[in-house]
This record gives sequence, structure tokens and C-alpha cells, in this order.
Amino acid sequence: MEDRLQPAFAEVLRRNPGEVEFHQAVREVFESLGPVLRKNPQYAEAAVLERICEPERQIIFRVPWVDDTGRVRINRGFRVEYNSALGPFKGGLRFHPSVYLGIVKFLGFEQIFKNALTGLPIGGGKGGSDFDPRGRSDGEVMRFCQSFMTELYRHIGEYTDVPAGDIGVGAREIGYLFGQYKRITNRYESGVLTGKGLTWGGSLVRKEATGYGSVLFAQSMLGTVGESLDGRRVSISGSGNVAIYAAEKAQQLGGRVVTFSDSSGYVVDEAGVDLSLLKEIKEVERGRVSDYIARRPGARLVKDGSIWDVPTDVALPCATQNELTEADAKQLVANGVRAVAEGANMPSTPEAVALLREAGVLFGPGKAANAGGVATSALEMQQNASRDSWSFGHTEDRLAEIMVSIHDNCLATADEYDVPGDYVVGANVRGFTQVADAMIALGVV
Ligand code: GLU
Repeated sequence: MEDRLQPAFAEVLRRNPGEVEFHQAVREVFESLGPVLRKNPQYAEAAVLERICEPERQIIFRVPWVDDTGRVRINRGFRVEYNSALGPFKGGLRFHPSVYLGIVKFLGFEQIFKNALTGLPIGGGKGGSDFDPRGRSDGEVMRFCQSFMTELYRHIGEYTDVPAGDIGVGAREIGYLFGQYKRITNRYESGVLTGKGLTWGGSLVRKEATGYGSVLFAQSMLGTVGESLDGRRVSISGSGNVAIYAAEKAQQLGGRVVTFSDSSGYVVDEAGVDLSLLKEIKEVERGRVSDYIARRPGARLVKDGSIWDVPTDVALPCATQNELTEADAKQLVANGVRAVAEGANMPSTPEAVALLREAGVLFGPGKAANAGGVATSALEMQQNASRDSWSFGHTEDRLAEIMVSIHDNCLATADEYDVPGDYVVGANVRGFTQVADAMIALGVV
């Protein structure tokens, strides 16, 4: 990081003690910004860096609910409304036991720049809870969501803040949240949440969008060196919404997806993943990856070691933050990986990113590569605003255009800053300058 950014970074550390994931996300962006600040003195004059690191509003609240045995449970709810220079706060809710303020802030901070990269009018925010939906009945999940929304509703709105899903929050949770919002406010305000079901204001392709977009981004990167996914081995971590639809698009483009995982281990399926079986297990039965092995001859479950040890051409980390370490990156490079595109948020450690970039691997950072999900959320908002619903083909075409433009804008920005092919600098600088310019135009607010 250049010296001129050190004071602002030191202030972030001082004001947000112990929030290590947030520090990591800020450092990662700041490391790209030295030349930008040199070229644009107005950013320092307007204290854009200092302002952008401080969320506009942070809400922390108690979420009491009653479990199936009649016991009262207490969780903590969060919504960090990070930056609304470009549009209403926008970003998902994560329900996972690891959630605390530092995780929500890292995700919210990333979301500002990711959303800017989409070119659509959305600000950045994120929220969630340390609630663990795993093993909970539908009734428990519903009561939790209703309690969560009973506080959250007063802070959100289609022109204010528009939450969606993330880890642990899918169509079921969005349904319960939307139902409670509708009941409390007495408004059918479709645009207040995205990721809705198709019969009640949702958009086709939203479910698929993050995974599809990441693969389209990988395909664009490969295209710059005259390659494609066709006939390539593809490794995907995770087995949630992002991973499943990354696998689907990779297969459509001729790739052979050989891995997926969950917290119990990773699966290697050399014949290529049977997606209908995986969808049945994960989306219908809410099962584990071990259920796949039982029903798929030839596939094996590996409980220790790393999924990134499996030789591959294209790696798509689609599970969670810091899942791909320096040792993993070394192994991927040794096995001849061509491209890595991040489907999850910040899945590669800083050391892993440095190693992959130095080795000349095509590296698509999450802010750019996984922006297809939130971009399609913005398309869902457009449909809600016009009381319309678009066809699958039209929506997918829009998504594909957006991913190509994110890719091309990152490359153009990397060229402008004399680091050709560097998608990390391209994404950070492009996202930052969009937001910074808008913040300056809007004055000190
Ligand atoms: N949670 C997703 C993300 O990380 C999607 C957010 C949204 O659709 O608002 O971008």
C-alpha cells in the first residue's frame, strides 16, 4: 500500500478493532488505489477514502424467537447501510453462525464497488445474523425471519435499502421476510427485496445469476488469450446456489465439472458432476454432499486435504471467504491452472491472490466475477418498478451483456493504469472511481 493511504488505513484499524475480515477487504482495495489518488487530487481533498470506509448507517438488533421445543432463542441481527451514492443500499443477508459485525462490514464494503461495476443504479449494503438455519424446521426458520423483519422493516424500502439473499438465505427465507414486511407495512412493495419467488415478483435467472455470471466472466478472461471453457476441467468449491449454477453454465459451455464440496468434505466426480442429482440433494432434500456419493457410482468423498489439490484448468471458488489459501494457490499453479474466477466473496486469501497474479494465472476477483447476482437483482427491481416480468432468454441476455461490460471495463481500466490484464486493479479502480465521483458530486453528506 502506498504511503499516502497509510493514515486512512490506520484509522480504519483504530476505529474497527478486531474486525479482521473488514480490515482485509479494505487493505485489498487500498492496495490498488495509490496511482488513482495521485491522478485525482480531488479525492483526497474531499476525504473520499475516509468517508467511503465509514458506513452511512449501521443497525444491530436483537432477534428473539421460539424454537420447536418452546425454548426462547436470541440471535443478533445486522444491517450495514454502507454507501448510497449510486442508488439505494443493495446487498444480501447472510444467516450463518460466523456472522458478526466484521463479516457484515467486509461484505458491505465489497458490495459498494461490486455494485458500481455493474453500471446499474445501486448503492452498497449487507446484513445478516448469527442464526444457523441448518437443522432448523421450516416453522423455526419462519419465526426467525418474521422476528428479524419485525425490526428490519423500518430501515428498508424500495428507494432506501433493498436486501436479498446470501449464504443461508434463499427463496424460502426471502418469502418469509417478504411476507412479514408486507403484513407490517400493509404494502405490496415488490422492490423492497430481491431473490423473490417467480409467482410473487421474482425474476427469472436471479437464482442462476451469480454462478452463471462467474462462468461467463471466466470465459471472457480465457477469450483474451484465445482459449475457452470447452473441453476444460473445472473445479468448483461449495454446493450452494452459486456453485450449482456455476456448474450448470460451465457444463453448457463444454466444461467438465469434477468437484464440489460442503463443510463435510469435497467430492471428486471424474465423469463430470450429475447436476440433476446434486440439485435434488441440495435444493429439494437440503441434504449433504455425502448423500451424492451414496447415489453416484464412481464419485468419491474426500474428508481431509484441499479441494484445490485436484488438478484442474479452471478453478471457481464458490464457497466462502478465505477458503483458497497460499498453499492451495501453489498447488493450482503446479497443476497448470489457467484461470481462477471468484464466485464467492473474498474466497482467496491475499497471499493466494498475490501468488496467482505473479504466476500469470487469469484471476477474476469476486467484485467483478460474482457481480452477476446483484446485477440480476437490479434487473428484478426494474421489472418490479414497471410491473413487468421478462422472459428467461431476455434476462439471461441482459446478464451476459453486463458480465461482458464488467470484464471489458476492468481490462480498459487496467490498461489505463499501465497494468494490462490485471483484473484486481481494474475492478478496484473502476468501482472506486465510479463511487468517488458520485460522492464528490453529491457534496459532503
Ligand atoms: N449476496 C449477493 C452478493 O454477494 C447478492 C446480493 C443481491 O442480490 O443484492 O452480491
